[in-house]
Amino acid sequence: MKVLVIGSGTIGTSVSQELADKGVDVEIYDAKYLGYGATSRSLSVFSVQQRDRRLVKLALESVELAKELDRRLKEEANFPIGIFGERCPHVSVAFTERDYEILRDYSEVWRSEGIDVKDVSPGEVKEELLPWVDENSFYRALVTYDDYKAFTFPFTLGRVGLMRMKGGKVYKYREIKDFDTGGGRIKAAVMEDGHKADADVFVVAGGAKSREIAKKLDDPVKPIRVTTAGGFCTEPYKYLFKPVITVESKGYRLTQTLRNEFAAVVYDMGIDNPSYDIEESLRLLERIATVTVKLFPSFAYINVLRQWGAYLDYTDDGLPIVGWSRKYENLYYIYGFNNYGFSIGTAVAARAAVEIADGRRDQFLEDFRPYRE
Ligand SMILES: Cc1cc2nc3c(=O)[nH]c(=O)nc-3n(C[C@H](O)[C@H](O)[C@H](O)COP(=O)(O)OP(=O)(O)OC[C@H]3O[C@@H](n4cnc5c(N)ncnc54)[C@H](O)[C@@H]3O)c2cc1C
Repeated sequence: MKVLVIGSGTIGTSVSQELADKGVDVEIYDAKYLGYGATSRSLSVFSVQQRDRRLVKLALESVELAKELDRRLKEEANFPIGIFGERCPHVSVAFTERDYEILRDYSEVWRSEGIDVKDVSPGEVKEELLPWVDENSFYRALVTYDDYKAFTFPFTLGRVGLMRMKGGKVYKYREIKDFDTGGGRIKAAVMEDGHKADADVFVVAGGAKSREIAKKLDDPVKPIRVTTAGGFCTEPYKYLFKPVITVESKGYRLTQTLRNEFAAVVYDMGIDNPSYDIEESLRLLERIATVTVKLFPSFAYINVLRQWGAYLDYTDDGLPIVGWSRKYENLYYIYGFNNYGFSIGTAVAARAAVEIADGRRDQFLEDFRPYRE
């Protein structure tokens, strides 16, 4: 069986490596370079702090799969840094009492899946986890201990490395522009220069741009909203800051990476991004800096080295889009990962690979099908 995967982000590379492990002949095509989309602009935290019980389950599963990937890369692939990750506490900060009530509701979902959640005062956060935080800057916080922070590049490259060991191939700078179709099937993917690539199954893992592919095929799948996101990183400092900090009400996240830089992001600027703009902007920088300095006043003196823009694919019900097309029997969609592609994508990709390779339906994925209302 030959499968052509469109997109080399965390989702495309994860599905491809899982398929290659099952003996499937896999080819990835990307319009740009490996991980070009949201993936290489991500903080790549595997977070169990999801809003929906189904997503929490998938996040817990993903953390275990990520650890297994790390082990395989070190032991089987001569990739000594693995996915360059570690388990870490996750501090979700509430600036106001109202933010705290919302967070507490989410934490009931986390607890229902067996996650240990600590409800802590600013003083306790300062004493136990974040000595540099201004304890007068926030109302309360909730802390969990099951997250795993990884580094996006070794994660994606590691997947590709394992896939190549099984004969899989990656084609960069090959945008799929069109398709040859007939008899309710996709026959070939067509590139700009007219080059055609055939396969038994085609997988759409194009992140936010997947909607253009569905549109080209006139396939009425669930719509997504593409938003502007972005981040920055600082110069490197000694690694002292293990936790991930999220301020849900500001769509904000910060951590220190194992490369020692501080990296901070905002997810949803509330701005539509119909042209997939990835320009950095002063507005984005100001928004990240404002929250950072409010929490950690001394960070005002840190030098920001690099800033970037990004786009994300949101669904209105907050669930991803995963499953077979109704229009083309050999077309499979896997995108719409909101702001949690690393957190749940690893588990979803593993389950999707079973559906694609073995032809079985995974009951757990039923709520994520592409044509749901
Ligand atoms: C600033 C930021 C911080 C984030 N932090 C986290 C985090 O801490 N934890 C977490 O879980 N998630 C996080 N995310 C979200 C996560 O990064 C995404 O959900 C995830 O990367 C989506 O992966 P993907 O493979 O679906 O899409 P993408 O990474 O966007 O990949 C899609 C790929 O498809 C290619 N493509 C598209 N159309 C075509 C075509 N026609 N032909 C060929 N190739 C095509 C693109 O070039 C691209 O490389 C963050 C995202 C951002 C932007």
